[in-house]
Amino acid sequence: MSEALSKYLEAGRIAVKLKEEAKKIAKINVLLVDICERLEFLAFELGAKPAFPVNIGVNEITAHFTSPANDVRKIPENSIVKFDIGVHIEGYIADTAMTLSFNQDYQDLIISAQDALQNGINAMKPGVKVSHVGAIIEKAITRFGYRPIRNLMGHRIERFNLHTGKSIPNISGIEGGTIEEGEIYAVEPFSTLQDAAGMVRDSNETVIFRYHKDRRLKSQDAMALLEYIKKEHRFLPFASRWLRSKFSYPSFDNIFEQLIKSRCIIPYRVLVEASGLPVSQAEHTVIVEKDGCRIIT
Ligand code: MN
Ligand code: MN
Repeated sequence: MSEALSKYLEAGRIAVKLKEEAKKIAKINVLLVDICERLEFLAFELGAKPAFPVNIGVNEITAHFTSPANDVRKIPENSIVKFDIGVHIEGYIADTAMTLSFNQDYQDLIISAQDALQNGINAMKPGVKVSHVGAIIEKAITRFGYRPIRNLMGHRIERFNLHTGKSIPNISGIEGGTIEEGEIYAVEPFSTLQDAAGMVRDSNETVIFRYHKDRRLKSQDAMALLEYIKKEHRFLPFASRWLRSKFSYPSFDNIFEQLIKSRCIIPYRVLVEASGLPVSQAEHTVIVEKDGCRIIT
């Protein structure tokens, strides 16, 4: 087995352990920040690193949310909650997500995304068009009477690169090339209610960032912070919460703001379902092999 493959498989096993831990600790009224920190710590304990902050999406919160420092939000009653978890070993990334329901009414919504994920993966092999996979995912979700989120997609993964190259759409009619042997994909259908807009929009909140480019900055502290981010996270997403716990000087907020303004780092807006309705998500990372896909998560 190649070294890269064994590291992908190990990252996958660790990501699965984090999902199992999430199932154990996620309960109504538990603080979201406690879940994020517990799972990220567990990644380190198991010999990996977070490939991005643990994302927790309550109800219509669909992507790019992790608790900021001192967050007081908890898992609400009657909610549906997505956990999107990524770990890497030396840059070999496993990206996976699951949805838990604290409301019986959402059980089928969860199953629809899981079913779409399984059907989509089953169809993936070398030579298959990504548009074909998108059509299968959409069909699986609509069969349950739900609606896919049309402006979020699965993505290719490469070493230290979470989103690269080709995408796996969650609806039909989006062309985007052909799947090839040896590629790594994260496949991630999102399912929402029939009456929903079926798309996400930006919210005003930003809690996740990534390094974008170098620029000469006047402040020595800003340069040092940017160097730290580059070295520690490369182009992978990180949480402002992670930096706040390391850089506790009073001017931190101001310096962080300078990095954003100069576009040395770029923010990911928290994405919410445009009509405010609940969303479920299922995601696996797969390796494309000769006759099909190997799921590593
Ligand atoms: Mn993910
Ligand atoms: Mn993903």
